[in-house]
Amino acid sequence: MVKNNNRTHILSATNGLTFKLIHIADNQVFSWYNKQEYPKKECDICAFIKPDMKSTHSLVHTEVSLFAGHELLVAPAHGGEYIGAHFKHMLNIVDESNNAVIAFEGSKNASIKNYHFSCHYISDKSYLPITADIHKEFYKEIISQDNLSMGILEVHGRNPICIQSSSAETIINAFHELEKHIGVNYSTNDHPYINLVLWKEGENYMLLAIPRAVYKPAEFYDENNSWNIAPGVLEMSGLYLIPEHSELTNLSTEQLEQVNAEVSFNNSHILEILNELDLSLI
Ligand SMILES: [Zn+2]
Repeated sequence: MVKNNNRTHILSATNGLTFKLIHIADNQVFSWYNKQEYPKKECDICAFIKPDMKSTHSLVHTEVSLFAGHELLVAPAHGGEYIGAHFKHMLNIVDESNNAVIAFEGSKNASIKNYHFSCHYISDKSYLPITADIHKEFYKEIISQDNLSMGILEVHGRNPICIQSSSAETIINAFHELEKHIGVNYSTNDHPYINLVLWKEGENYMLLAIPRAVYKPAEFYDENNSWNIAPGVLEMSGLYLIPEHSELTNLSTEQLEQVNAEVSFNNSHILEILNELDLSLI
């Protein structure tokens, strides 16, 4: 099934996954999507932040918007952490904006300690296809205890680990236990790249962790390839930002499933990780 207008293209796979493609015509605006981490001396985000910009829970509104309902939020200063203190700020934002979703790219470059934290704020969570995917029949709960549920999508092409709880502390503790098993080690500053998507449903926080096997799929480097997608957190959530208008109608559902599948861990690897977790103290 294909829905189409000049700027948006929606593809539905036979397995029920939705892929939403939107054309970003302004290259200058699009370039902000990739401005995630910089060493201090060449930081575009620092240069951009004005002292009078308003902030929300220590994250600054940049007024940089990639599409309607989107805004880039950044930390006002460089910090040496992966997610740490910012986690609580992101939880506070979805507490106050119950219909919103926050998407965080994760750390791409562990050698840059003083990176600049930024995340995407999207005012309507239903704009990201992945928020609906976890309510489809291929969602499988793997872990269930008191106020904590964890599950996966048993489907080709989108492989998040979903953590649900009404307790902010439980969500944070379960994520920190999970990231240890994905390979995060704070003592050696070793941070595998994990995309995060966070929103609220009723009283429950919904956190999706998408561990990345590779930064970009092999096809990205193939000059004969007809597309130019470097999938980030939005693409892994089913929303493809397309800089070339011709790509908007040329990409197929199969290609998009393949991009997601190649970049994320496969289901058997994710199940191994979930089976290793020690959640006895959470
Ligand atoms: Zn900076």
